[in-house]
Amino acid sequence: MTTAENNVTTSSATDSAISISGLEFAYGNRPVLKGIDLEIPRGVAFGVLGANGAGKTTLVRLLIGRLKATGGSATIFGQKPGPELADSVGYMPQLNALYEALSVRENLDFFARMLGLSNTNIRANAVARAMDLVGLSDRADSVMSELSGGMRQRVSLGAALVHEPDLLLLDEPTVGLDPELRATFWQHFKEMTDSGTTILISSHTMDDAAHCNTLGFMRDGKFIATGTPDELRATTGKPNATLEDAFLHLSRSST
Ligand code: ATP
Repeated sequence: MTTAENNVTTSSATDSAISISGLEFAYGNRPVLKGIDLEIPRGVAFGVLGANGAGKTTLVRLLIGRLKATGGSATIFGQKPGPELADSVGYMPQLNALYEALSVRENLDFFARMLGLSNTNIRANAVARAMDLVGLSDRADSVMSELSGGMRQRVSLGAALVHEPDLLLLDEPTVGLDPELRATFWQHFKEMTDSGTTILISSHTMDDAAHCNTLGFMRDGKFIATGTPDELRATTGKPNATLEDAFLHLSRSST
């Protein structure tokens, strides 16, 4: 485990999917990210856990290149975040960015085309695969406004992974999902990391946290600790501690 005081990472930069050093960001004169150092190796699910306003979405937006750092650096597969990485990165925003008047198939087709799948047959196969993965093949022709909240989340996930990216950036993807759907999402995520995809997922639920290989607890624009769920639980010194206990314990000791 690493803590803010001993921020040593376990992987080398060469096998990293994401490499972040001294990353800072401010909205105007309000600092939001205050010096983040992080190495995320390929093929893991890394959970960014933190309270409302900790800076999780800001971090994800920097990683997709929507925001520019005001200090430090971040690279994805050795490159600066930006549109050049669109082929290898999938992004699921906190608020879905789908077209209300289009069907599930049409939405996914639109995203696939934007993400460079220009061949019609290849794109149709990719869309069919994504719909199958998120369990919406039978709703392919439903327009968005006819879908439930959880179904819309699933389309949004389908749009992020339709081009089979090497890295998925998921900003609170499980918010509002029922336990069964949450379990289905995690089953997909596990299959993806097993086949080498890297996933960075932001969340404030400890249920998501328990599924991640590694976690970063974020507070007030910084990681106060990173480690496996077991390592973080062990910081409490209590045998039956939950991740929530660990988060509270580490939050208190970081102030
Ligand atoms: P949540 O769990 O509530 O989604 P978060 O950890 O994702 O929170 P961010 O959305 O990254 O937090 O916000 C971090 C800080 O940046 C907050 O103080 C927020 O008010 C501020 N912030 C976010 N977006 C803007 C913006 N567009 N302009 C100014 N400040 C912003």
